[in-house]
Amino acid sequence: MSLHTDVLIIGAGLSGIGAAAHLTRTSPRTSYALLEARDASGGTWDLFRYPGIRSDSDMYTMGYSFRPWSDDEALASGDRILEYVRDTAREYDVDRHIRYRHRVVRASWSSDDALWTVEAEHDGETVVLTAGFLWACRGYYDYEQGHEPDFAGTEEFQGSVVHPQHWPADLDWSGKNVVVIGSGATAVTLVPALAETAAHVTMLQRSPTYILSVPRRDPLAVRLKRWLPDRLAHRLVRWKNIAVAAGLYRLSRTRPTVVKRLVRKQNLAMLPEGYDVDTHFAPTYDPWDQRMCFVPDGDLFHAVRLGRAEVVTSTIERFDADGIVLTGGRHLEADVIVTATGLKLSPFADIEIDVDGVKVNPSEAMTYRALMLSGVPNFVFTVGYTNASWTLKADLVAQYTTRLLAHMRDRGFRSVVPVREEHVREQPFIDFSSGYVLRALDQLPTQGDREPWRLRQSWFYDRRVLRRGDLEDGVLQFR
Ligand SMILES: Cc1cc2nc3c(=O)[nH]c(=O)nc-3n(C[C@H](O)[C@H](O)[C@H](O)COP(=O)(O)OP(=O)(O)OC[C@H]3O[C@@H](n4cnc5c(N)ncnc54)[C@H](O)[C@@H]3O)c2cc1C
Repeated sequence: MSLHTDVLIIGAGLSGIGAAAHLTRTSPRTSYALLEARDASGGTWDLFRYPGIRSDSDMYTMGYSFRPWSDDEALASGDRILEYVRDTAREYDVDRHIRYRHRVVRASWSSDDALWTVEAEHDGETVVLTAGFLWACRGYYDYEQGHEPDFAGTEEFQGSVVHPQHWPADLDWSGKNVVVIGSGATAVTLVPALAETAAHVTMLQRSPTYILSVPRRDPLAVRLKRWLPDRLAHRLVRWKNIAVAAGLYRLSRTRPTVVKRLVRKQNLAMLPEGYDVDTHFAPTYDPWDQRMCFVPDGDLFHAVRLGRAEVVTSTIERFDADGIVLTGGRHLEADVIVTATGLKLSPFADIEIDVDGVKVNPSEAMTYRALMLSGVPNFVFTVGYTNASWTLKADLVAQYTTRLLAHMRDRGFRSVVPVREEHVREQPFIDFSSGYVLRALDQLPTQGDREPWRLRQSWFYDRRVLRRGDLEDGVLQFR
């Protein structure tokens, strides 16, 4: 049976469910469906099951703008985030619109019909659906596989090698020696969690990351919630956290040495006396050239201070039967090796898109306001911020999209497309030097060097233009 809806949303994670809830709130008469490849909703927060999994953004900004986060914990566990996302789906009646085990593989736009024809794989069969508007909320990484570099001697190792994206439910690490390879958000989350029961945990990093401790409970939120209604307290704390994060980011870009000093001072205060903070916690790049990591109540530093965890900064020569040999000869004993070596970025790779029979190569397209692709009509994608909570941007994309849909309905337009301008110069989509970004740059679209093609990474700017900016700006062509 074929299905037609006004809007087809790809993905039932935090963004897809948020997109659907926004549609329900603002235009309840718009018909929509969500196609979800997996047999569960929640995306990231259902897929990742490693010990200690949590947000490293505060939930007042990571939660939806329209649904207050009412827990005391600002950095929340994966379970709680999943519950929050699913509760939102129930509250806004999104559940019954989700079609599980529908993996979108192809989307074809016909200008004559102003229509998307979408093919999805469903239990071994191809299901065909049509829609007037396509909204990709399929996240930014490959679900099947994380990034796993080849380490020499892997086959000799007698213990277990685990990637956090596929954490085995029956893995037992208590009383064992664990080496976690990596220094990103996942590694710094895993290390203190594993250290609670492991004999010893080593975080083995090639180079350090900026790591800042933040309170697990937001003291202002705890106080405000005593006196104010939930919704108002949530709003105030949200604004405060947006301003603090934006301020820290700005200071990092304009006065990096001040931020470096601040982080170093905090690290020194939390680590044992005489600790070599410059080797293990002082990167050579400036703060926010790569993603900064946040740890709740300094849990990572606490594990190091107790001697339950150690940070080693070195390179791997090879694995051997009982651990890892480092360049220089040191040997790390391991029963379990966790390769927290990152994700494989792929925001568009798994869906073939064509416009009137001509294949779209996303890497040749330019992003319009970081939410549409040049030359691709009636298509929006949600990709969140890298320097702030994902949902801050996802909410704005949803507000823009619902506004755009209402505008088209009111004016009788059937299609809208951003048309690329010759004089706009290309720039990389993300200006991060992190490995996971650099590895994928050739598959990502570009951004432009000026508005409206530029990716600002600024919630204050985006809030103004996406919520109130002129939709008919001369770049978007309506028909
Ligand atoms: C371990 C981890 C921790 C993170 N922590 C934070 C944090 O603290 N703060 C923050 O802001 N961000 C964080 N992020 C980023 C995080 O991914 C986002 O916050 C958010 O969960 C993204 O939601 P999403 O719905 O856009 O994408 P996802 O959660 O990736 O969901 C996408 C959904 O689309 C589905 N899908 C994909 N392809 C297809 C297809 N072809 N057809 C049909 N369905 C498809 C997937 O199955 C999935 O359900 C973290 C990411 C990871 C991996």
